[in-house]
Amino acid sequence: MIEANRLFSQERDYPLHLGVTEAGTLISSAVRSSIGIGTLLLEGLGDTLRVSVSGDPVKELKIAKEILISLKLRKGVLFIACPTCGRTVVDTEKIALELEEEFGNLDEKLTIAVMGCVVNGPGEAKEADIALIGGEKESLIYLGGSFYKKIPTSKILAEMKEAVSVFLNKREK
Ligand code: SF4
Repeated sequence: MIEANRLFSQERDYPLHLGVTEAGTLISSAVRSSIGIGTLLLEGLGDTLRVSVSGDPVKELKIAKEILISLKLRKGVLFIACPTCGRTVVDTEKIALELEEEFGNLDEKLTIAVMGCVVNGPGEAKEADIALIGGEKESLIYLGGSFYKKIPTSKILAEMKEAVSVFLNKREK
């Protein structure tokens, strides 16, 4: 698919529709589509795309959107979450999924990070616009790499909603 598109683009000046067909089920398709479509997009090739998943077509859109946001080719929220390790004190996956659900459709160029400990979290998330640093009882929120506030870990979602709106308001000014 990669070679065919490269060759075709050398011969003809037509718009290119990118897609890895029969890419498989969710994880196979996400990996193969990201490699195939992403490689060509990074080379400046491709005008439209379709991700193909053997399963829920809504997931096709989510993967396509994620490819474009990750390559910074469209607006949207880029989510970062630490891989967890022996220092992790919160359920980063659960928190990250909740934040993805809440902010995943925001039409803003924004990076939101979820980190699992206060030891390395602030440093690892310093490039993020908004970072949630998980702590056992109290967690921290950083805005633009600087400490913003300490919050109860039980109120993460409400506090992150407030932090996102504070960050966006500041940025607009
Ligand atoms: S941020 Fe903390 S918990 Fe997450 S991977 Fe880094 S050291 Fe481990």
